[in-house]
Amino acid sequence: MTDRDQTSRTAILTVDDDPGVSRAVARDLRRRYGDRHRIVRAESAAAGLDALRQMKLRGELVAVILADYRMPELNGIEFLEQAMDIYPGARRVLLTAYADTGAAIDAINVVDLDHYLLKPWDPPEEKLYPVVDALLDAWMESDHRPVPETKMVGHRWSARCSEVREFLARNQVPYRWYNSDEPEGKRLLDAAGADGLSLPVVITPDGQPLIEPSDAELAARVGLATTPAQDFYDLIVIGGGPAGLGAAVYGASEGLRTVLVERLATGGQAGQSSRIENYLGFPDGVSGAQLTDRARRQATKFGAEVLTTREVVRLESCGSARRVTFADGTSIDAHTVILATGVSYRRLGAPGLDELTGRGVYYGSALTEATACAGQDVYIVGGANSAGQAAVFLSRHAKSVTILVRGASLERSMSYYLIKQIAAIPSISVRTCTEVVSACGEDHLEMLTLRNAVDGASETVDTQLLFLFIGAAPLTDWLDGVVARDADGFVLAGPDLSVSGERPARWELDRMPYHLETSVPGVFVAGDARAESAKRVASAVGEGALAVMLVHRYLEKS
Ligand SMILES: Cc1cc2nc3c(=O)[nH]c(=O)nc-3n(C[C@H](O)[C@H](O)[C@H](O)COP(=O)(O)OP(=O)(O)OC[C@H]3O[C@@H](n4cnc5c(N)ncnc54)[C@H](O)[C@@H]3O)c2cc1C
Repeated sequence: MTDRDQTSRTAILTVDDDPGVSRAVARDLRRRYGDRHRIVRAESAAAGLDALRQMKLRGELVAVILADYRMPELNGIEFLEQAMDIYPGARRVLLTAYADTGAAIDAINVVDLDHYLLKPWDPPEEKLYPVVDALLDAWMESDHRPVPETKMVGHRWSARCSEVREFLARNQVPYRWYNSDEPEGKRLLDAAGADGLSLPVVITPDGQPLIEPSDAELAARVGLATTPAQDFYDLIVIGGGPAGLGAAVYGASEGLRTVLVERLATGGQAGQSSRIENYLGFPDGVSGAQLTDRARRQATKFGAEVLTTREVVRLESCGSARRVTFADGTSIDAHTVILATGVSYRRLGAPGLDELTGRGVYYGSALTEATACAGQDVYIVGGANSAGQAAVFLSRHAKSVTILVRGASLERSMSYYLIKQIAAIPSISVRTCTEVVSACGEDHLEMLTLRNAVDGASETVDTQLLFLFIGAAPLTDWLDGVVARDADGFVLAGPDLSVSGERPARWELDRMPYHLETSVPGVFVAGDARAESAKRVASAVGEGALAVMLVHRYLEKS
């Protein structure tokens, strides 16, 4: 039997401070139920409660609890009362001597006791098994699904809880969310020994609680690689969006020792897309999460190392090697580097938005907040495809979705197929020439002030949810003075580097830079981070592949 079978079987717990009696009960239970149930034995109330807490954290089910009445620290009734806080659905049996029958009868009301059993219970076929059989039947009839996946207890309006949900979702870690105010959330917090003030609490499938974990702690505990296996590679890819994943797949499949470094979660912007409909080969569309999962598996299958939660903060040349330094000061070297750092959402400067970010105001995280939109009036700012996709997706959950656009129409910024989809969904409306001028709310978003740019009229609307998709900026400040960039921070490459056919400044090689090569030989750029790039998934993937071809050319000639 595997460990998984062991833990997935429903448990029957027996607690008795007399070791002889405890062993005898467990033996009889095991004889009859051992093939279908896990029999857990404890020799004190404290040990019994401890075992229940551990099982709770591991997401295991407990069907029946049998407790002796006379125990020194807590009597059986007090024990069952506390056990109920952890497993309210488990059936409860008190083992009593004849003299204690009165107490057992009283307990029926106190702890909602299902049964009391008089000791001795011989023969078990007559006295013990019929009772436990009936309790197991009753337990089976109620809905008890095991929760073997990661569990997260948090607060609906906590910005950090929202970030952790996003982090788990984007790294494809299945998890179940519990509000810290709901009874099961409180039970999990108690079992984890957490006070509920430090949230979130994440409980991994092996039952280990993490209180307010950092992204790096989470990554390590849910099985994502965070540390490079070597200190020298042929190719370091910085950024795990479509361009970076494309480069990692082609680099590794063509025999280059390749490591991909991602600061948050693989997938990049595409990983946040609910449905990409214009990517070649997916006529019915594909979600960003699916595409990312496949690409990541493909990259690792070919032998690429994929590191998450590692931010690169410096790039420098050390002779012929290129050195990449992480935020924690450690570094790795390689012959070549591909910059695939993409872009990230610009922030809207309206008063109130910063304070409420993660508490009703979200930048691009429409997917993880979808269930919170049920029955709500939701607002989306932005006129590009990302905003349109979010509107279509959220309209399945929300009462209404309003898209706010500064321009006079969507035609110039959104694909025609999306405009048609939006027009066909009655719960979506588009307000043109409209901008958000402020947001307010106590501990979460409650109200927005909107202004019409044509007549200058202001209006306030009640809403708890605002999603912003307002254009993006490249994340390249750390490359200042290292590689040439344009005025907006996008990385220049190939022909864009040279002025009227001249070699770029400080370029010392006899040849001109290759097509995707930056102002530093052996450092290439692919995807949205490149100046004048197409800002599409297909072009990012294509540039990742092309950059690898140029890496080969560079390695052959250097
Ligand atoms: C919601 C949404 C929907 C979209 N829908 C479509 C669509 O339907 N069709 C389409 O063609 N395009 C779509 N796009 C655009 C498309 O997703 C992007 O063009 C594409 O993701 C660009 O890929 P990239 O790899 O260049 O950059 P990104 O996807 O931006 O990825 C860059 C990655 O680099 C990481 N990174 C940045 N700096 C560092 C650092 N210093 N260290 C380590 N890692 C770093 C980031 O965390 C990020 O994961 C959509 C975009 C969004 C936001």
